[in-house]
Amino acid sequence: MVRSTKIVATLGPASSDPQTLERMIAAGVDVVRLNFSHGAAENHVRRAELVREVSRRTGCTVGIMADLQGPKIRVGKFREGSVTLNRGEEFVLDAERELGGEDGVGLDYPNLPRDVAAGDRLLLDDGRIDLEVIEVTPSRVRCRVVQGGVLSNNKGINRKGGGLSAPALTAKDMEDIKVASQIHCDYLAVSFPKSSADMYMARQLMRTAGGEALLIAKIERAEAVEEKTLAEIMSASDAIMVARGDLAVEVGEASVPALQKRMIRQARELNKLTITATQMMESMISNPIPTRAEVSDVANAVLDGTDAVMLSAETASGAYPVETVESVARICVEAEQSQALALDRDFLDRVFTRVDQSIAMAALFTAYHLKVKAIAALTESGSTALWMSRLNCGVPIYALTSQTATRYRCTLFRDTYPLIISYSGHDREELLLEAERVLVGSGVVRNGDLIVLTIGEPIGKPGGTNTMKIVKVGENRRP
Ligand code: PGA
Ligand code: MN
Repeated sequence: MVRSTKIVATLGPASSDPQTLERMIAAGVDVVRLNFSHGAAENHVRRAELVREVSRRTGCTVGIMADLQGPKIRVGKFREGSVTLNRGEEFVLDAERELGGEDGVGLDYPNLPRDVAAGDRLLLDDGRIDLEVIEVTPSRVRCRVVQGGVLSNNKGINRKGGGLSAPALTAKDMEDIKVASQIHCDYLAVSFPKSSADMYMARQLMRTAGGEALLIAKIERAEAVEEKTLAEIMSASDAIMVARGDLAVEVGEASVPALQKRMIRQARELNKLTITATQMMESMISNPIPTRAEVSDVANAVLDGTDAVMLSAETASGAYPVETVESVARICVEAEQSQALALDRDFLDRVFTRVDQSIAMAALFTAYHLKVKAIAALTESGSTALWMSRLNCGVPIYALTSQTATRYRCTLFRDTYPLIISYSGHDREELLLEAERVLVGSGVVRNGDLIVLTIGEPIGKPGGTNTMKIVKVGENRRP
């Protein structure tokens, strides 16, 4: 069964041995995520090497995403590791404090007092603890506990409604961009961007470090979902992540489902990729089966049109990393099958003026109506496959490329499956025959199947796709 939606799995202690990783990939992982919020750079380098190694050995194309920590603001450490906060008590966030206790804790972001005012609400540990600011001095934020609980070392702080001024790229992120570029990651995720400028800067830094990754903007700040800002951030990025963990804390969890739908729709219209992330299979961190609500959540993300669903602690530190991937894969396939196809209707809102994009659209339209077995896009950059994958035509798209980088960067595209074609000559007929051989060899089509093929002519000249051909596999064989 061909699955359209892609699966991103975060690697961590639970998924870094070769056997588990191989089983996770066999179960359906398309992209692994290296979370730079945790662990030393060497660990990420080692994991990336392992993924490439398993990829080579199994022939599975697995992309690598480096996810930067960003300016996540955190409390410092406690003398005893944690404290219990009770409703009504006072608690001080103190930029000058070393070790925390019952009365307060240090901060890893000395500017916090400048960014908050009396009356603000600060949410700690993903919203589990709620503090109301009662007084601010240059280095201290005095709060009253509204919702208490256990607060332990290095838990995150969000301001309800957003508005913290920390820049999106920290000194650590800049170092991590270099590491990510050295390991040739295929995707680079930027945490907490609040404007397109943050994304331009990240791309600049990555290019300087020699990286060529596609850039993912994690949408997790209240400022970033404001209509104009969101459109600008999307334009400056290749993909967005609906980062529901931090986003829910900043905008209120009840706003997130509608935002998810809006963001996915808008991203597809702008030819951008989308990842839906956080708590998708949360209970599987410690249980072998998901809750009904989690099953529905994954299925609904698929129906919203997300390119990929992401697993975090479920695969990084959970007890059932392989089972979680198997479960997600099953839910995706079922949800995809339940979805009614309506390509013609989706076409009505599309605007395109480019030649290559027009051919991509023509191929989709033809594939949909002729009910062909496959679309084969011969593509150097992957952009033809990207355009095709923005609309759902019910036909798998095979991105045939000679470029290794393109092969890996297609791993996130919905409905798209990269295949390597090694022909490097300039003979059009030979190239088309080689494309058929690759498709038949991978078992995706058989002699007699109808396929739609797109190609740029003349052959060998880099540049846009300008030709579409309908081919019956096996018929054009030379005598
Ligand atoms: P994180 O990002 O896991 O790096 O915090 C995702 C989210 O906030 O949902
Ligand atoms: Mn986050």
